[in-house]
Amino acid sequence: MKVDYIIVGLGLAGLAFAEELTKQNKSFIVYENRSQNSSLVAGGMYNPVILKRFTPVWNAEEQLRVALDFYKKLEEKLNSSYDHKINIYRVFKSVEEQNNWFLASDKILLQDFMDAAIIKNENKCVLAPFGFGKLVNTGRIDVNSLIHDYRTLLFKKKVLKEEKFAYDRIVIKQDGVEYKDVKSERIVFCEGYGIKKNPYFKYLPMREAKGELITIHAPELKVDYLIKAAVFVMPLGDDIYKVGATFNWKDKSPTPTAEGRQELERKLNTFIRCKYTIVDHLAGIRPTIIDRRPLLGVHAEYKPLAILNGLGTRGVMIAPLMAMKLFEYLEHNIPLDNEVSIARFR
Ligand SMILES: Cc1cc2nc3c(=O)[nH]c(=O)nc-3n(C[C@H](O)[C@H](O)[C@H](O)COP(=O)(O)OP(=O)(O)OC[C@H]3O[C@@H](n4cnc5c(N)ncnc54)[C@H](O)[C@@H]3O)c2cc1C
Repeated sequence: MKVDYIIVGLGLAGLAFAEELTKQNKSFIVYENRSQNSSLVAGGMYNPVILKRFTPVWNAEEQLRVALDFYKKLEEKLNSSYDHKINIYRVFKSVEEQNNWFLASDKILLQDFMDAAIIKNENKCVLAPFGFGKLVNTGRIDVNSLIHDYRTLLFKKKVLKEEKFAYDRIVIKQDGVEYKDVKSERIVFCEGYGIKKNPYFKYLPMREAKGELITIHAPELKVDYLIKAAVFVMPLGDDIYKVGATFNWKDKSPTPTAEGRQELERKLNTFIRCKYTIVDHLAGIRPTIIDRRPLLGVHAEYKPLAILNGLGTRGVMIAPLMAMKLFEYLEHNIPLDNEVSIARFR
């Protein structure tokens, strides 16, 4: 078998790169072994405003423009709906925060997303004495369904191998690589936290962050917006809400923990005042880099080996643009910004 690309990993990074290759009429095969699940458990929120400081996310405008078009085209292609528009209500902790919100909402990069008005809380189940700041033009991508449907598509096209990619089977040639019975020009590694097992790229400084989420059933809550306070509460319909997420820099285990669940409940109870039951509990490891920027580029010595990783806490917004940038670099030699290139760690 001969292909233009081998992709390792089908989370958001692998999916975005596979889509970019499809758009550019390049052939590929994907290896995926379900060893990581960051994308599968992700809240899927996209929001260009950092809600701690009310400042714009790095490169937010371009990321969001590319991402929204990307998910829209995938909805058409897969004949399903993944992009659920939803406003975010940020609970204010003080009058000072209300003032900071008001000032930030006037800034050019933020005014399309931050409603200047202070929203009064009228829901008895929510504790928000200082009210909310409302974010518009935000939403959530149902990443789990998207990956599931995309996997099915690749499987039908016979370009998905559901197996572990074995690094010791790579043979690097002058004009590309050989892997078992596949010849390819390049391999693009998109393994998320799985990079730690990749002998070619494990030197890169990933400061992975485990995240846990619970799903609750709260029939009295009745909110149709996403609440952001100590944790987020995201309505999924039928009185079901996703609540998350924790940040744990020490625990590298892939499974949910009792401590994670307690932390989420404790934080939730600071602003939700109605009964709920926990119906699910999930965990994943975010591939976060020390400087909070992605990892794109090729290996210094083995040029056919490339990487797309480091999507961190905002994979939904950033993956489509980074896939485009990596393709332009590999195929058209358009230089990568130093901020995202792995050359910054050489
Ligand atoms: C709890 C939590 C909540 C989050 N919420 C949000 C959110 O609301 N919004 C947002 O934008 N982002 C969110 N994120 C972050 C987002 O999920 C990540 O940025 C994104 O998922 C990273 O995607 P990835 O493809 O790089 O990695 P992954 O999703 O980890 O995908 C890597 C894939 O590679 C496969 N793989 C690895 N090694 C091998 C191998 N040797 N052979 C074959 N396959 C292999 C794995 O099985 C996996 O499928 C959240 C993350 C977590 C954990």
